Amino acid sequence: MTTPLDALPLRDDLRGRQPYGAPQLHVPVELNVNENTHPIPEDVARDIIERIAASLLTINRYPDREFTELRQALARYLGHGLTEANIWAANGSNEVLQHILQAFGGPGRRVLGFPPTYSMHSIIASSTGTEWVEGERDPGYQISPETAVRWIEQTDPDLVFFCAPNNPTGTPLPLETIEAAYEAARGVVVVDEAYEEFAPAGTPNALSLLPGRQRLLVSRTMSKAFAFAGARLGYLAADPAVADALRLVRLPYHLSALTQAAAVAALDHTPEMLAMVDDIKRQRDRIVERLGELGYEVWPTASNFVLFGGVDDPEALFEWLLARGIIIRNLGIPNHLRVSAGTEAETTAFLDAMAEYTAR
Ligand SMILES: *Cc1c(COP(=O)(O)O)cnc(C)c1O
Repeated sequence: MTTPLDALPLRDDLRGRQPYGAPQLHVPVELNVNENTHPIPEDVARDIIERIAASLLTINRYPDREFTELRQALARYLGHGLTEANIWAANGSNEVLQHILQAFGGPGRRVLGFPPTYSMHSIIASSTGTEWVEGERDPGYQISPETAVRWIEQTDPDLVFFCAPNNPTGTPLPLETIEAAYEAARGVVVVDEAYEEFAPAGTPNALSLLPGRQRLLVSRTMSKAFAFAGARLGYLAADPAVADALRLVRLPYHLSALTQAAAVAALDHTPEMLAMVDDIKRQRDRIVERLGELGYEVWPTASNFVLFGGVDDPEALFEWLLARGIIIRNLGIPNHLRVSAGTEAETTAFLDAMAEYTAR
C-alpha cells in the first residue's frame, strides 16, 4: 500500500514539486546524462583501490573534516595561483550548489537563472526555500553582458546562476557577461563550469576572474571530464571567506574518507584521467557534423553533448532510438533532443540509427 504524498505533513512549498528524474535505464548505448562513457584506465583504477584500501584501515575514525589533502590536490589541478584556502568540495557539485544556497539563499531570498539550463539549479533553489526567478536568453541561447545586467536590475537577485558552457544547449558564456553581471549584482555570482574541460583548448574560464572578486564562485565537478560520476566529487574555487561561509552549513564529515582517498588518487593521475577528453571532443564533433548533414539544426557546443533541433516529434524519435538500445535525452524543448558524445562505437551506433530514422 502506498501513501499519497499529499497525506504527509510536507512543507507547503514542496507540494506538487517534481524530483530530478532523468530516466536511469540500462541499455547498450547510454547517451542521456552527459556522463563520460569512457571507463577509467585499469592501472589508475588499481591505484585508486589501493588508496581506498589504505583508508579502510582507519575507517573507525571520522575522516579529515577539512579534507585538506584533497583541497590541495584540487588547487594544484586548477592552477591560477589558487591554494587549498580557495577550495571547497562536496559529494558532487550538486551538493556544493546546495551549500551555496543554504549559506547565501534561503527563505526570503531569490536566485536568478537563465533557462533552458541545468534543471538541478531550480530544484536545489526550491529545496532550500530560495525563490527561483528566470531571465530570458538572447537568440541562440546566448547571454550578452547587457542582457545579464538588465535581468539583474529587473529582479535584484541575492544570487545569480550561470552555467558555462550551458547544459542542455552547449552554449559558451563570454567572460564579459560574468564581469558585467558581477558589477551589477549585489549578491553572489555562481558560474557552474561542469563541462569546462571540453571547451576548445585555450578558452578562458571564470577562474581567471577570481582575483579581487570575493562574491564570484566557480563550481566544477569530477563527474564529467574525470569520468568519476559514480564517486560523487564536486568542488568550488572562490575567495577563502566563501569556504568559511560554506563551513557554516555543511554537515560535519560530509566527505567520507573513501571519497577523499579515491579523489586524491584520481587527481594524481590527471593526465591519464583526462586523456579521454580529446577523444570525446572528436566524437562530439562527429555528431555535430553528421547531424548537420542529415538536416538537423545543431547548436554550437563547447561541452560533451549536442543539442539538436528540427525534430518533428522528439518523443517519437526518443522512443524509436530506445527500442534500438540507444537512450538520449528529451528535455521538453520543442522539436529538440540532446545527445551526449560516447565512445567511437557508441557514437557510430547513434549516428547510424539517426541516418536510418531520417531516411524512413
Ligand atoms: C552534470 C552536471 C553537474 C554535475 O553534478 P555532480 O553533482 O557533480 O555530478 C553540475 N552542473 C551541471 C550543469 C551538470 O550538467
